[in-house]
Amino acid sequence: MIPTPRGRFLRIKCEDCGGEQIIFDRAATVVACLVCGATLARPTGGKVAIEGEVLGAVE
Ligand SMILES: [Zn+2]
Repeated sequence: MIPTPRGRFLRIKCEDCGGEQIIFDRAATVVACLVCGATLARPTGGKVAIEGEVLGAVE
């Protein structure tokens, strides 16, 4: 896999409500589900730690 310094967008499925959401994989803040408020990703200083299910990258 070729590293992309700008980061990329991932489609995440919320494990709590099943909703899908697009997140940035280098988000600097916690990404919460827009539907139920569950945490989908946490910032780590680099790539985020994904809490939900990764469905794929968004090109
Ligand atoms: Zn949710």
